[in-house]
Amino acid sequence: MAKRDYYEVLGLDKSASAQDIKRAYRKLAREYHPDINQEADAADKFKEIGEAYEVLSDEQKRAQYDRFGFEGASQFGGGDFQGGFGDIFDMFFGGGGRRQDPNAPRRGEDYQYVVDLDFMESVTGKTETIELEIEVECDTCMGSGAKPGTKPETCGRCGGSGVETVEQNTILGRMVNQRPCSQCHGTGKTIKEKCPTCHGSGHVKKTQRVEVKIPAGIDNGQQIRMSGKGGPGFNGGPAGDLYVVVRVRGHEIFERVDQHIAMEMPVTFTQAALGAEIEVPTVHGKVSLKVPAGTQTGSKFRLRGKGMPSVRGGGHGDQYVTIVIMTPTNMTDRQKELLREFEEISGEAGVEEQHGLFQKMKKFFSH
Ligand code: ZN
Ligand code: ZN
Repeated sequence: MAKRDYYEVLGLDKSASAQDIKRAYRKLAREYHPDINQEADAADKFKEIGEAYEVLSDEQKRAQYDRFGFEGASQFGGGDFQGGFGDIFDMFFGGGGRRQDPNAPRRGEDYQYVVDLDFMESVTGKTETIELEIEVECDTCMGSGAKPGTKPETCGRCGGSGVETVEQNTILGRMVNQRPCSQCHGTGKTIKEKCPTCHGSGHVKKTQRVEVKIPAGIDNGQQIRMSGKGGPGFNGGPAGDLYVVVRVRGHEIFERVDQHIAMEMPVTFTQAALGAEIEVPTVHGKVSLKVPAGTQTGSKFRLRGKGMPSVRGGGHGDQYVTIVIMTPTNMTDRQKELLREFEEISGEAGVEEQHGLFQKMKKFFSH
């Protein structure tokens, strides 16, 4: 095929504005798109139109072409032009796997659902029934979207491919991209008479109940994947998955640290000084703990196996008990009297001086 003048190809003369060039190109590219135009030479014409536009839409290339003809245009940029056009051309014809067949099986959507649990529910686990609104195939039209007795027709704009090409001028030059067809929204079909049940969409909303077994020991932010419980697939594709995200509310006593539980246990000054057997709450019930005589505030005790259960079963973490000594308040005169007496005797016996921290203080002040 002899090379035709670029202006002639686009049906324009040399005085055409950039707008004229763009408009002519759009009209012709649509007309000769090989997916629509069944004529034998449509592809060649389409390529010719693209090449003409490639040059005339670029101010510098157009100036070169006007002065030197085809030689000028193709030399501009040192051979870059040919390769560049090839890439753009590929995009038109689904190069690089860009085109999606609207009739190919597609996997359904993944759904996410958030379940809130109390802290104690995260210890014991819980079975929760959740209700999801999902889209399922319409029974009336079997998913076609067309009124029973009629059939969807191939979309005239995209020829059934479900995609159309758009061009954009970017900093890197003209780019041709594919996007879902604006007439059929990527389905490749048009429906003349719509199904009365689904109004042409081919799917309807349905409430689906799903029972989720949340395992004991689940942590805040963990999620449970329920395979195939998401949205239904299209064209025979598999259903999507449902992700149940668990949020665990905080507890006023217990704090989870990995597999363990931390808590603060108040004891009286006397219990700490003399030693005592105290009852400590755990998520598994009360446990007795022996606090030895002379226990300091901040001391930690470990209750083995009294932490969180493992979600995979078998074994528990531990519970860490931090002792907090309660300084007595609102004392009676009698109590105060006894403490003053206690203090006097303590000074004589050097009770405080045995404390490591007290020794450090004494050393510091003696400098
Ligand atoms: Zn329907
Ligand atoms: Zn279309």
